[in-house]
Amino acid sequence: MSFNITRLTKVIGQTVYNTLLPDTCALCEQTLGDHQQDHLCPYCRLALPYNLNPCNACGMPLGQTNTQLCGPCISKPLAHQTIVPLLHQKEAAYLLHRFKFQKSIREGQVLTQAMLRMISATYTNNQPFPQCLIPTPTSWQQRLLRGFDHAQILASMLAKATNTPVKANLLKRKYGQPQRHKTRAQRLKLANSTYTLRRPTHQIPYEHIALIDDVLTTGTTARHLVRLLQKAGISRVDLWCATRAT
Ligand SMILES: [Zn+2]
Ligand SMILES: [Zn+2]
Repeated sequence: MSFNITRLTKVIGQTVYNTLLPDTCALCEQTLGDHQQDHLCPYCRLALPYNLNPCNACGMPLGQTNTQLCGPCISKPLAHQTIVPLLHQKEAAYLLHRFKFQKSIREGQVLTQAMLRMISATYTNNQPFPQCLIPTPTSWQQRLLRGFDHAQILASMLAKATNTPVKANLLKRKYGQPQRHKTRAQRLKLANSTYTLRRPTHQIPYEHIALIDDVLTTGTTARHLVRLLQKAGISRVDLWCATRAT
């Protein structure tokens, strides 16, 4: 209980601090004249490592070409539509690290705003919008250890901004080591045994969802989860992540 009260006091203190003091840039810390939803000055916003011309299905940067899919995605697309606005390097990697490991919501808001800019540019009139957002699950042991579920927080912020519900109870992750230091083969084996559907398939009333995660690395977990959801009858699975490792 004392832990919760301490944490609550810290959150209230932070909210008061954020309300009373002027906003500052999340990267260079210069004072911002007006409150910016992404907490960035114009220079730092421009300097972010944007993922220019990514593959529509896996988010891998394609370079200067007119194609919309990378070679592997022509035959085996990772997802129907992938949103991943930043490359996992420099300022974007710093922001993500601060959000995930320092539990800083402010950096999460910067990343969310970058995602929202790409979402609104992608889902135009002829592109249907997902019916719900599903965060990539973390195990309850991991949540307890970290005290923070980054994918669920990103999903909540995106849900609020796009007026779309979040369903965090469809998928389940068994406890296991984080995947950061695993090889591709180890990740594949792990993904197949780690993630399961929590509900019987006939109880999933969606045809189109977006799966949310912070960083898209090898795509192994995402591919497994997309297949799992498709087998459960969801015909279209999109993937929304903040950064893309290359
Ligand atoms: Zn700045
Ligand atoms: Zn691709």
